[in-house]
Amino acid sequence: MPMYEYVCNECGHEFEKLIRSPEEEKELTCPQCSAPRLSKKLSLPARPMETVGATASAAEACGQGPPCGAPWCRRQG
Ligand SMILES: [Zn+2]
Repeated sequence: MPMYEYVCNECGHEFEKLIRSPEEEKELTCPQCSAPRLSKKLSLPARPMETVGATASAAEACGQGPPCGAPWCRRQG
């Protein structure tokens, strides 16, 4: 059963809802103002992608072969 995040188009209230059937999602309303106009948010897994994690994974990737020359690479020379 997927958990979705919604944003109310009327009052901007954000909430999560467990959706068990398409009918349930169709009848969903804002718990704060009861408006039926909601936007579904894409809930992504909490994982750093391109910022701090990038350098860490790049350093791990440079485990074999010649030094990659990147500033974070410990295998200089
Ligand atoms: Zn609302």
